[in-house]
Amino acid sequence: MEVTADLHTHSTASDGDFSPIQLVELAATKGLRAISLTDHDTLKGIPLALESGNRHAVDVIVGVEISAEYDPGTLHILGYFPFYPVGLEDALTKVQTARRERVPRVVKKLNDLGIMLTEADITEFAGDGQIGRPHIAKALLKKGYVRTFDEAFDEFLGKGKKAYVPKEKMTWEKAIGLIREHAGLPVLAHPFTLYHAESDLTSFIKGLRKSGLVGIEALYPDHTPEDTSLYLRMAQDLGLLITGGTDFHGTEHKAVSLGDYGIDSTLFEIFCTRLKGSFTS
Ligand code: AMP
Ligand code: FE
Ligand code: FE
Ligand code: ZN
Repeated sequence: MEVTADLHTHSTASDGDFSPIQLVELAATKGLRAISLTDHDTLKGIPLALESGNRHAVDVIVGVEISAEYDPGTLHILGYFPFYPVGLEDALTKVQTARRERVPRVVKKLNDLGIMLTEADITEFAGDGQIGRPHIAKALLKKGYVRTFDEAFDEFLGKGKKAYVPKEKMTWEKAIGLIREHAGLPVLAHPFTLYHAESDLTSFIKGLRKSGLVGIEALYPDHTPEDTSLYLRMAQDLGLLITGGTDFHGTEHKAVSLGDYGIDSTLFEIFCTRLKGSFTS
């Protein structure tokens, strides 16, 4: 499949390594027609990405990725917008504060484990972007407490691990509702992180759809071929839009490069039509 659009990327506005400008430049180098910048719980990178998109003839889709309450797996809702959603950044203040407030609590847990990391060691990696566990992982790596980025999650930061601290999140009804209120398309990100059996997953996604979900990120690097065909079939059966992307965070995360996954030109046309229509429906 020839990838036209990578609809899932992160910049320094959250936990990505590249600035919004560098990300768009990379997309241009790779010959991508479009990318969406979908930073965690923020739109701060969007203005620069849009500007850079204009300069490099890359179509930048305004996006966001909101973390929602969910157990035992992880539930992220992507939002795609036909234009900059005025007011949404303010509505995300509470979850942004929760991100900041989690840091000293993780530091305390790490210190109790004999790991002498400070808040400053972590904020150094986050800059003024939304702080997340990858910044803590980088600090652990730099100080030599882990040998790899993944080890930081496996040992300390992953859900239920030694230094895991849950942060306050939105309910998924709220996340989907917020995106819809701002004329956006809510899409279920990387469904494999829900750890549901097939029949269970179908009924869960039907619940999300009832709240306003319109799409499912079927094309994603961590999906097995079986996962992908299951999610494509679900999209078809449930009348959901198919989206896809790499969840590109830069070089340190996984061995995936911008544009390795995403949607082809046919799916992108369908996506754009839906996006343009989203503020009238
Ligand atoms: P947070 O936003 O603080 O909850 O951190 C979530 C981010 O951490 C995800 O978006 C990924 O970038 C990264 N992440 C989560 N789990 C893992 C893992 N097991 N291995 C590597 N990175 C992970
Ligand atoms: Fe991330
Ligand atoms: Fe995610
Ligand atoms: Zn993501």
